[in-house]
Amino acid sequence: MWALPTAIDVPMTGIEEHGGGVAPGWTSGWLRRARRCESPNFGVRPPGMGIELVLIHSISLPPGEYGNGAIERLFTNRLDCDAHPYYEQLRGLEVSAHFVVLRDGELVQFVSCDRRAWHAGTSHWRGRADCNDFSIGIELEGLEGTSFTPAQYLALGRLMQDMTEAHGVVSVAGHEHVAPGRKHDPGSGFDWALLIGLLGWPAQNFPDAVAEAG
Ligand SMILES: [Zn+2]
Repeated sequence: MWALPTAIDVPMTGIEEHGGGVAPGWTSGWLRRARRCESPNFGVRPPGMGIELVLIHSISLPPGEYGNGAIERLFTNRLDCDAHPYYEQLRGLEVSAHFVVLRDGELVQFVSCDRRAWHAGTSHWRGRADCNDFSIGIELEGLEGTSFTPAQYLALGRLMQDMTEAHGVVSVAGHEHVAPGRKHDPGSGFDWALLIGLLGWPAQNFPDAVAEAG
């Protein structure tokens, strides 16, 4: 076991949480302070399967465009795939993540953490296949190779602290680490050293390549 940090040691001034309140507060796998936008794209976790991993992703639709609600429409099967040429490859796709952190730090939850969201696809983590079974998926609104906002790191750090307290999450990795060669998010613009510093977690809780770089 390892000690949980009691607080994330970063300045909070000027960054207000959406949803209000400082107590984490969960109801049936839903974080009460997150804005809830329910996705139908989920299943049950295998019996007895605990949550052992947080998977970090990045997404923007169309790529590089932010704040237009398209991620929410994709995860709720309401995206108009005629609205942009890029969306053609998304037609009929049923995907989700547990959480999305928007550019301004707003936190949106789509699937209860008690349920299995559809974000990882074919994947492996330390010898185990199918990461969706035992992970929580967090999408950061962003573009692979570009940076994320301070508000997003702050929201991510607080979310992971809340999740760890509620669900006993012990490891964190990027989609690129569990599906190497096939996936590249969150990409080189994600500051793993910053996240390591925010969380204060030991190196073994991160992918080897990240821990060595951090
Ligand atoms: Zn991904």
